[in-house]
Amino acid sequence: MPFTKLGLYSSILRAVATKGYGEPTPIQQQAIPAILTGRDLIASAQTGTGKTAAFALPILNRLGPHQARGPRVLVLEPTRELAAQVDEAFREFGQFSDIHTALIHGGVGFGKQRNALLKGSDVVVATVGRLMDFLHERTLNLEHLQVLVLDEVDRMLDMGFINDVKKIVSLCPKKRQTLFFSATVPPEIEAVARFALTNPNRIAIGRARTVSESVTHAIYTVNQGLKFNLLVALLKKTDFHSVIVFTRTKHGADKIARQLKDEHHSVTVLHGNRSQGQRKDSLAGFKEGRYEVLVATDIAARGLDIAGVSHVINYDIPMTPDDYVHRIGRTGRAAATGDAFTIATPQEANDVKAIERFIKASIPQLKLEGFDYKALPPPAAHRPTALAPDYKPSRTHGQRPAHGQNQNRSGPRGGGGGGHGNGGGGGNRSGRPGSGPAPHAKGKPAGGQWRNRSGR
Ligand code: AMP
Repeated sequence: MPFTKLGLYSSILRAVATKGYGEPTPIQQQAIPAILTGRDLIASAQTGTGKTAAFALPILNRLGPHQARGPRVLVLEPTRELAAQVDEAFREFGQFSDIHTALIHGGVGFGKQRNALLKGSDVVVATVGRLMDFLHERTLNLEHLQVLVLDEVDRMLDMGFINDVKKIVSLCPKKRQTLFFSATVPPEIEAVARFALTNPNRIAIGRARTVSESVTHAIYTVNQGLKFNLLVALLKKTDFHSVIVFTRTKHGADKIARQLKDEHHSVTVLHGNRSQGQRKDSLAGFKEGRYEVLVATDIAARGLDIAGVSHVINYDIPMTPDDYVHRIGRTGRAAATGDAFTIATPQEANDVKAIERFIKASIPQLKLEGFDYKALPPPAAHRPTALAPDYKPSRTHGQRPAHGQNQNRSGPRGGGGGGHGNGGGGGNRSGRPGSGPAPHAKGKPAGGQWRNRSGR
């Protein structure tokens, strides 16, 4: 079914064509007509299925021309990055209309956001905390709201935002359309849906894949003092496309990033001590392929959706099995698959078992061929331990790599540093280093030529 059959106005169809979308994705085919009826909707669909357009297009269709009296659409997102992506989508799809949008999130000053609200925005895309601030100071009221979108509700629940979400819902007019998106709808999320929705339509796109279906795992056990050497050796032997390295602490992340730079990797860092500007640069650079390695802490990486991450490497074993699932969920997004390597010390065998119990699968224990497991560890001063006492934050983290640094790599890494979002990119990975079962068909979007995410 083409987009033209979905009941959308020509200005919106023009924007869709400008984006280069050919056919609507399954969720778009189902959700667009359903949302155009004005009824509430629960859709279980993951990021990567085209769900942003599935709600943004019919919402814009229903909005008509700009009105300055206050937001008529509110979209709540769990993270700043997702909010920014969705705001951008509304701007792009609304480019042939006069709709005003405002992006509201923490980590930056209030001034610009306050002005956008005071000027009158039709669509507000927000994270919960900053939105609450504006509601408290009465810069914003929701009395004219017509459509409320609760996006990625499972992640909001994860991140502890659900009570604030409920507060915001209770400040919205009773007569409204509410659209509810969540990758899964377990009972606790069903309860939120009952609170927020009236007689909803339901759409389920695909079965949520288990982590063992979408990600190939491996554990590499090594003594504490050799962890960094092993990381470097793993990166050398892996034909990776883009990789996220997880550490437990911000300091550990900075230190590993610094050391990886010394090893001539193009690296950026994401953790809670970084400014919004630095976070933006890190993410944009990583998505565009300017950085091939992103070193991140758990909290910073929650909710991140980056297409085409070929590998996740747990430099430190996660604190909880739940964190493990979140970390490795950064690869194998949408229809692709990915590799997750965990570096563990012999003392962490019980943590590994706990993860295996949690994901209900055993994780192959691999040895990296050619790696000297008996080598003496480098002197402590050269070793990035998570909480090294000599740590001083580096001012250079997150800076762009020097010109040409990206090209130093041997092997087929992302086709010369272009966008790494689309399906073919991950396909040239030869998979895991060392011994172990062959990786299954990786990086190929299952039957989905629509997963042509430019630069995401
Ligand atoms: P989302 O699930 O909304 O994050 O979308 C995932 C990616 O698919 C984004 O890069 C979209 O721009 C892209 N996308 C969404 N719908 C389509 C479509 N019908 N055709 C091609 N690409 C699409």
